[in-house]
Parts: sequence; structure tokens; C-alpha cells
Amino acid sequence: MTQQGSHGQLDHAERAEAFNRDAGRVDWHDETLWFVRAKRDRAAKLLPEWEALREAASTIKHNVLDNLHDYLLEFEKQAQANGVTVHWAENATEHNAIVYKIISDAGVTNMVKSKSMLTEECHLNDFLLAKGIDVIDTDLGERIVQLAGEPPSHIVLPCIHWKKEEIGELFAKHLGTTPGASDPGYLTASARAHLRQHFMTSRVALTGVNFGVAETGEFVVCTNEGNADLGVQLADVHIACMGIEKIIPKREHLGVFLRLLARSATGQPVTTYSSHFRRPRKGQQVHIVLVDNGRTTRLASPDFRNALKCIRCGACMNTCPVYRRSGGHSYHYAVAGPIGAILAPGLDAKAFGDLPFASTLCGSCTYVCPVKIDIHDQLYKWRQVIVKEGYVTASKTAAMNTMATVLSTPSLFRNAGGVGRWLMRLLPGLVNNRFNPWYRQREMPKPPTTTFQNWYKENRRKA
Ligand code: SF4
Repeated sequence: MTQQGSHGQLDHAERAEAFNRDAGRVDWHDETLWFVRAKRDRAAKLLPEWEALREAASTIKHNVLDNLHDYLLEFEKQAQANGVTVHWAENATEHNAIVYKIISDAGVTNMVKSKSMLTEECHLNDFLLAKGIDVIDTDLGERIVQLAGEPPSHIVLPCIHWKKEEIGELFAKHLGTTPGASDPGYLTASARAHLRQHFMTSRVALTGVNFGVAETGEFVVCTNEGNADLGVQLADVHIACMGIEKIIPKREHLGVFLRLLARSATGQPVTTYSSHFRRPRKGQQVHIVLVDNGRTTRLASPDFRNALKCIRCGACMNTCPVYRRSGGHSYHYAVAGPIGAILAPGLDAKAFGDLPFASTLCGSCTYVCPVKIDIHDQLYKWRQVIVKEGYVTASKTAAMNTMATVLSTPSLFRNAGGVGRWLMRLLPGLVNNRFNPWYRQREMPKPPTTTFQNWYKENRRKA
């Protein structure tokens, strides 16, 4: 396992193949996410100013990236003035060590956590578990995948790949619910009772951060379940982990992002809870950990810096035909889908070199992105970087070189069609065999009787 989150050696295509063995699940996963995408479309259409909001969000984020250093220092100063302890972590190792030190200083061995993709990126749960700290994820979807021993498969809908019957079996095993029960109301009530015990007894609560406001030093956490608020209100110590790109300049900018975030994520007008944390209440400690983990390297890269504008709404996943039919785990990184496929290679181009190829480049991700990230352009650019660095397989390189020679040599190109048709007719096994991954999922059509060039010459003459 790499530090950045590769969960093994299988690439996206191989993992997608495993997901595709259950055809029923693939169809249902695809349809469910498309349903969420359609809700997003309806919510966006209800706002005549939708495109203006996207433009405003994009402009604000560009300004943040251009002045990140200053906004971070302003945020630190204001947060400290509010009585918050600010920590800086250069990478995942430092982040995990800081969080562990705060927990150790509090003298506890358990903690509740609300959803934070940054802690997934840093593999915090595994790290703390090895140190004897019990971490309970309190977002329902996160708790389900945690009980199953899996990472989330989607940044907003972490267990979207699970059916309610399977969740019933999981809860019967771990929470003692009635075997065979799959009623969502019953299962949710059981999870609530189970989580409540942990909320009541945890003196440390960790949350992610959706937005840090430089002007005031406050930060905002958006949830639909209120689990972040409950954990923080009952704990003596609040740890908030924030990627440095989550800064926005002023409180007045929050309205732009809050209106875009929930509509893009689930089609809701706003998340159920948008909680503002500014200063510790009496007797409470608040720590904020500002994490780089490769972000400043990306900031210095003109082609890829815009990926830092991401507000983690998940809309690009819901719309992506490849994500919907390959599942989040096929991306083997904390953040799946199109945005994961442009973030992960920035951390390790070799380990995640397969991800930019997991796309049709249809551009739907770019179309729905509320902060106007040029996602499909970046996917295309990453492919070029990965090929240049030599991180694609030898067979793919050889095939591409052959193709380049054929396409750039008119005489070869003219004859290639004829030779190809001849081969497919006389030796179909040469093309249609188990070593050809394209053929494994498809039926090869019969070779055409003529090449397009010949057909064109003939028909053009007739016309
Ligand atoms: S890249 Fe855009 S659409 Fe995808 S999660 Fe980030 S903000 Fe949302």
C-alpha cells in the first residue's frame, strides 16, 4: 500500500471487471447515481442565476489559489485570536502524528469522527487503530463501510454500492438487529441507538471542514445527519482537519458555495446542517490541523492547479458513465471518480497512472462541476504526462507506437484497412482472443466488405 492510498496492485480496469461480475448491482448502481444527477439538474434549473453562481465560485477559488499563502496566514491569526490552536501538517504522516498527540494528551483511547475525506486520504483510522485508539465513524454511510472493513466508495454517498438487505445482514452481525430485517427505518433507528452510546461517552470528536473563512477564523462543516454537531457539542476536545485549499476569503462568500454544494451533491437546496465553529466553549479545546499533503506541489503546476478548487460535491462522480458502471473502489484512492482521477496522479503518477484512462473524456464532469474545474482537459493532460513518464504497460506503448506510424504514413494507412479485414476474415482468433480486453465484454462485428476509403471513392463518384 502506498502512502497515498493505493489499496493494492490491481488497476482500475481489473477492479472494474470484478465489480461488473454482478451485473444486477452494476445496473442498480448506475440508475441510482443517475437519479441523483437528475435531481441535481432539476435543482440547478430552478435557479436562473445558476451559471452566474458557478462563475462567481470559480472566480473566488481562483483568487484563493493566487493568494493562498496570505489567506492561510490570515485564517491562522484570526483562529488563534478566537482561542483555537492551529497546527500545520506537511503530509499525511505529520497529520496523523498531530491528531494522535492531541488524543493522547486528552488521555483517552476512543474518539467519534464525522465524515472527512482528508482523514481517508491520510489513512487516519488505520494509523490510530494501530496505536490502540478506537475511532467510530458517525456518518451512517461511513459507519456501514467501517463495519464492513471497506473504504467509502463515494465522497458524499459512502455506501452507495450497498443494498439495504446487505446492510441488514451487516447490522445483524455487528449491532444485533433482527436477522433478515432490511427496513431502512428500523436499521437507521438501530444505528442511531448504537451511535448514541459512542456520542455520549467520547471526550474527543473529530470533524472535517468544508470551508475555512480567512476573515473570521471560523470554519463550516456541512452534514445531513447532524452527527458532527452532536459529537462536537458533547466532547471536551474538537479536532478539525482541513486541507489548505478549503479556505475562502470572507464570510459573505459562503452563500455562493452553500447554494452550489448541496444542489450539486444531492439536489437539495441546502445541506440540513451547515454548522459554524468559531471559538471553543468554556472548558473546551478546539484544534484545527491545516494539511498540505501534496497540495502546494499541485498549486505550482499550471496544468493541474485548478483541481484544488474542488468543494467535494461528488457531482462529477454521479454523472460519469465510467464511475457509475465501475464503482468507487475501482479507483483505489480515497477520492474516486473523475476528480479522484486528476488528484491521485498528483500524489503518485506511477501508482495512480491508470486512473486518467478510466474516462470516456465525454466532458460531462466538467459540465456539472459547480466550481468549473476543467476536469476532462486535465484527464487528457495527465494521460500525456503518464505516457511521457513511461508509466503505461509495454504492450500499450507498442500498440500506440504502431498506431502512430500507421496514422502518419498515408501508404500504410491506405493498406491497413484491407489487411485488417483480411486478417479478421481468415484468422479471427488473432484479434478476437482472451488477451484482447475489448473483445472480452463484446461481440466482434463481422468485418465490413470494403474500407471506408473505397466506399467514399465509389460513392463520391456516383454523387
Ligand atoms: S470536481 Fe467539481 S463536480 Fe467533482 S467533486 Fe469537485 S467540485 Fe464537485
